[in-house]
Amino acid sequence: MKQINHFINGREVEASSGESKPVFNPATGEQTGELGLASVADVDNAVAVAQAAFVEWSQVSIARRTKLMYNFRNLVEANTDELARRLTAEHGKVLSDAAGEVARGLENIEFACGIADAVKGTYSENASTGVDVYTIRQPLGVVAGITPFNFPVMVPLWTIPNAIATGNTYILKPSERDPSAPMFLAELFHEAGFPDGVLNVLHGDKVSVDRLLDHPDVQAVSFVGSTPIAKYVYETGTANGKRVQALAGAKNHMIVLPDADISVAADAAVSAAFGSAGERCMAISVLVTVGDVAEPLLAAIRDRMAKLKVGDGTESDSEMGPLITSEHRDRVADYVAQGAAAGASVVVDGRDASFDGDGFFLAPTLIDNVTTDMSIYTDEIFGPVLSVVRTDSFPDALKLIQENEWGNGAAIFTRDGGAARAFQNEVEAGMVGINVPIPVPVGYHSFGGWNNSLFGDVTMYGPEGVRFFTRPKVITSRWPDPATSSVDLGFPRND
Ligand code: NAD
Repeated sequence: MKQINHFINGREVEASSGESKPVFNPATGEQTGELGLASVADVDNAVAVAQAAFVEWSQVSIARRTKLMYNFRNLVEANTDELARRLTAEHGKVLSDAAGEVARGLENIEFACGIADAVKGTYSENASTGVDVYTIRQPLGVVAGITPFNFPVMVPLWTIPNAIATGNTYILKPSERDPSAPMFLAELFHEAGFPDGVLNVLHGDKVSVDRLLDHPDVQAVSFVGSTPIAKYVYETGTANGKRVQALAGAKNHMIVLPDADISVAADAAVSAAFGSAGERCMAISVLVTVGDVAEPLLAAIRDRMAKLKVGDGTESDSEMGPLITSEHRDRVADYVAQGAAAGASVVVDGRDASFDGDGFFLAPTLIDNVTTDMSIYTDEIFGPVLSVVRTDSFPDALKLIQENEWGNGAAIFTRDGGAARAFQNEVEAGMVGINVPIPVPVGYHSFGGWNNSLFGDVTMYGPEGVRFFTRPKVITSRWPDPATSSVDLGFPRND
């Protein structure tokens, strides 16, 4: 059994709490690791290490920081397969998904390689006679990231590169469920040549999160996870005077208009609903059909679902892996039962599939005639379940999204530019897809939802990330009029 430790000050450190949690391979149901959980003293030690590292790191030149970030980028790319392997072994997603996750994370390192440009200040010359005004952006100090199980490489990389490239030092508290991939990330970071203590990984539960939230030397917290915890982290952290950005849960809708290309929309719905077993914050959870598109679209989706191969993510023909835990698998299955009991039609029932072994599998499920009062609609399910809500018109379809409590992603499939444009202008969501089901922004834009999908006002990575991890300082300087200079300046003087 593998013992998983913290990574502090450039080396592995055992947890001191005496508490631990099991880590499983979701494809087999076997326990593969034991994760030591941080005590308050472990958190205090990590913060002290990061605080000490900040003194020097914040003074390191942009050129040097950039060079190290390039090294890190190259190491992550070169180790994509190994990162994906460790990720799949504890998360369960198929290896190609895991490698895709690493690639999306790399985009954020690449953005931070351009930090010289992203963090540049501004300068107003001669605001008044002899007076120049300029703004520079400085790092905050020690910052913390608290991340979810579903993207154990990509989500930490949403914030680590910008935070560190701008001169902060960082403590990552990853999910307890799949800690080995973020640990490997920290090893690669160290190998890239960053000084000890600049990036630290601390494993833990509520005890460590609470200590990070009230530690006076933690300046900012970036959280990604479920809505209740995001709200708690935001409210507690900000009450303690910290900067907090807390990205939360979601219930993403995909509207299909009658003029859409059925084949394109069906491919998109299947990959966006069942990819990574639906455990994506940008997964499509609700398919909203408009008018008579429902019948041909659902037929095309059923055809595709029949061919989807569910299995161990390490097998090359698997297209969808298991869920993260047996409890979560049972919870998702229970939502399907609740939907059926409430009158929805279970068109494809994932509970019917049987699997060898003790893995946490549940096959994809399609439920039609879902209404907005059913728990299957109101709650975030976070599993391979696609609910279909039928509507008669574009305004009815849009209204569903506008009235939903979340607003992470939203997508529309149509060939009509006017409808697409009306959708992008009106829709209550932070990330919008037009004929794109999962509109995760590229690394040089920023990621974040609206409403209950984001607590705080700064989204993650890209330019917003640089803003989050720096504070502006505006300098107003006056130098004597050149006319009074004691040096012969050799040109006509101001009057
Ligand atoms: P989670 O909220 O259970 O856990 C997230 C983090 O919070 C973990 O590090 C966990 O250890 C910590 N945590 C859990 N309970 C806590 C508590 N009581 N007090 C303090 N800290 C606690 O989320 P999860 O199950 O790991 O991830 C799935 C959720 O994350 C889904 O709701 C999904 O939508 C959301 N998510 C959102 C985004 C986004 O960008 N909006 C991205 C990925 C995942």
